[in-house]
Order: sequence, then C-alpha cells, then structure tokens
Amino acid sequence: MVVVMKQGFSQAQMDEVKRAMEAGGVRVMVSRGAHTTILGAEGDTGGLDQEQLGQLPGVERVMRVSEPYKKANRKFHPDDSVIHLGGGVQVGGRKLAVIAGPCSVESREQIIGVAGAVQTAGAAALRGGAYKPRTSPYAFQGKGEEGIRLLREARQATGLPIVTELMSSDQLPLFEEGVDVIQIGARNMQNFDLLKKVGRTRKPILLKRGLSATIEEWLMSAEYVMSEGNPNVILCERGIRTFETYTRNTLDLSAVLAVKQLSHLPVVVDPSHACGRAWMVEGMAVAAVAAGADGLLIEVHNDPPNALCDGQQSLTPEQFAALMDKVRAVAHCVGREV
Ligand code: PEP
Ligand code: MN
Repeated sequence: MVVVMKQGFSQAQMDEVKRAMEAGGVRVMVSRGAHTTILGAEGDTGGLDQEQLGQLPGVERVMRVSEPYKKANRKFHPDDSVIHLGGGVQVGGRKLAVIAGPCSVESREQIIGVAGAVQTAGAAALRGGAYKPRTSPYAFQGKGEEGIRLLREARQATGLPIVTELMSSDQLPLFEEGVDVIQIGARNMQNFDLLKKVGRTRKPILLKRGLSATIEEWLMSAEYVMSEGNPNVILCERGIRTFETYTRNTLDLSAVLAVKQLSHLPVVVDPSHACGRAWMVEGMAVAAVAAGADGLLIEVHNDPPNALCDGQQSLTPEQFAALMDKVRAVAHCVGREV
C-alpha cells in the first residue's frame, strides 16, 4: 500500500501518517520526489485501514500495490532512479551511458588497448569478464583474479569505471574491493542466495534478464537485491530465448518500455548477446536508444575473429566508433546526451 501526500503537506502531518502506518504493523519507506512524496508500506499490510489513512490530514490518496515487487515498483518511487558508478558516471537520467569492452579480459595489451579505444569513442564505462559462465566446461573460463587485476590497470589508465560479472559469492570480497559495478549474469538472475549477498553491499548491480525470465520475475530479482538494503540496481535486457534460432536470442525491446513504466530503475540494453551477430548490433543499439533505454552494453574486441569468447558478436573499435556516431544522433532526437 502507498500513501500519496498532498502538495504542501506539513512534516507533522507526514509524521502522523507514518505513525498510523507503523501502528498497523508495517515498516514505512519514504520517497520524496520532485513533485510527490509517497509513504510506502513494507511487510504485511493486512493491519492497515485504507479508508482511515485516506482521511488523515495531508493525505491525497491511498493505493493498494498489487505487484509483488515493492522497492523496485514505480508506485513506491515515482521519480527515475539514477545510479552512480563512480568516476562521475551515472546511469539513469538525461545522459545515456554506454558500457563497452570485450566479452573476456584476455591480456594486459588487449584490455588496456580496448579501454582506450572505447573511451575515445565515447564509452562511459569498461566491461570485461574475468569469471565467465560458459556452456562448456572445456571452453575458456576467464582469467579470474588476474582478470580483475588487469581491469583495474585499465581503469587506472583511462579512468573508466569497470563492470564485471560475479559468478560466486566466494569472489565477493575481491569484487567489493576492486570493481565498480557487479554484473549478475543471465544464468544467475534467479540465484537468490547470490542476489541476497550482493544486496548486502552498496555496489551498483547490473542485473541481466534471465534467459527465459518474465518481466515480473526479473523485477522480483531486483527486489531481492533491494530488499537486503542495496537500492543500486541497473536492469539489463539482453534478449530472451524464443523459438527463433537465427539470432542468438530475441531482443525484447518492449521490455524496456514495460520496465520503465513498472519500475523506477534504469534499464540498459545489450544487443551483442541478444543478436549474437556483430552486423546487427548497431541497428539494435540505435533501436534501443529510440525505445528509451538508459544505456547500452556493447562487446568490443581488438581482434574479433581470434577472440577467446563471443568473437562473432564483437565489434572492432572502428565499428564501435561508427555505432557511437549513430547512437549520438538518435539520442539527440529523444532528448538525451551521450
Ligand atoms: C556477458 O555479459 O558476457 C554475458 C555472459 O552475458 P549474459 O549473462 O547476458 O549471457
Ligand atoms: Mn559475452
């Protein structure tokens, strides 16, 4: 249940509403937006009297929230959330954030070279996998701790915040200390134990949509992180599995619009893993920006044919620079800056 306060309400009126809600057995989350202030009830709302709350001075209206996600719900937090990655970079709001880099960190020369190239082209953050979720146990599994060290060197060289995937809570201390954004991959979107653990940190979490997850399941995973106290969640649409096999996945751009209506969390789009084909990435990136995405995640490799992972969907630095030119033009049309 949420209580919407009237314009010009007093602090005493809000305190009174809060007390009445707490007396009904719930915790109260206050969201002060630019235009509205909202008191959201967390927990079992069975003890709340909707009509009585509606009659308290200063109350505009009281609404039941039927969705199972609360903290991620726009009804609880009407304004868009803006997540700070460090280094002055943010996701959400007017600026479009482009996160780019190789699927996997392979060597010092590779990651520092790609970091410099994507920065020059206008990327706001560097991605690179150190712990890789591969379908085959015989495929390259990532460089692990050494990969994190190399990412940190790339950050030092460029100033770009670094985004990398966490697969196991064993690595959480290393990530908490060393990386700027923790990515939870599609395959771990419903690893509830991992979600709770990253929820106990304050790191920004890039939460990819599960391979076959509904929008509600995805938002419930965000709720897991937020319910533990970490509000810094960025959603990432990366394609879902459908009957179509021409593309690696099917990019669900309608999810961007749905999520932005249902939730206040920013959403970025990853056309690389969605399409699985490099030649499609630019077109879908531009479409994602037109659809209202808050950012993009793009795989870029110095030598795609010889990449250790996902070369077929990786752009060269030159192709990425061309993509950025198009993205800037479309971003301008929809009132965003890059
Ligand atoms: C990745 O970003 O490298 C990755 C493995 O993505 P996903 O979890 O979306 O498959
Ligand atoms: Mn990849």
